[in-house]
Amino acid sequence: MAKKKKGPRQVIGLKCGECSSFNYVSEYNKNNEQLKEQANSEKTFPLNKFCNVCRKHTPHTISKKLK
Ligand SMILES: [Zn+2]
Repeated sequence: MAKKKKGPRQVIGLKCGECSSFNYVSEYNKNNEQLKEQANSEKTFPLNKFCNVCRKHTPHTISKKLK
């Protein structure tokens, strides 16, 4: 990548809400998130994802720090 564009898309990490292990790296669009929230007052996060440590689906929260 030659240029680093600043935009609404942010790279985030997803952390397990139960054991706080760092499981996923994802991207999300700030603008879409805000629109969604306004439209049906639903938030994307926490997201239900599978956690390898808990061995079940748990709510994953945003972690700005990437490991
Ligand atoms: Zn877990």
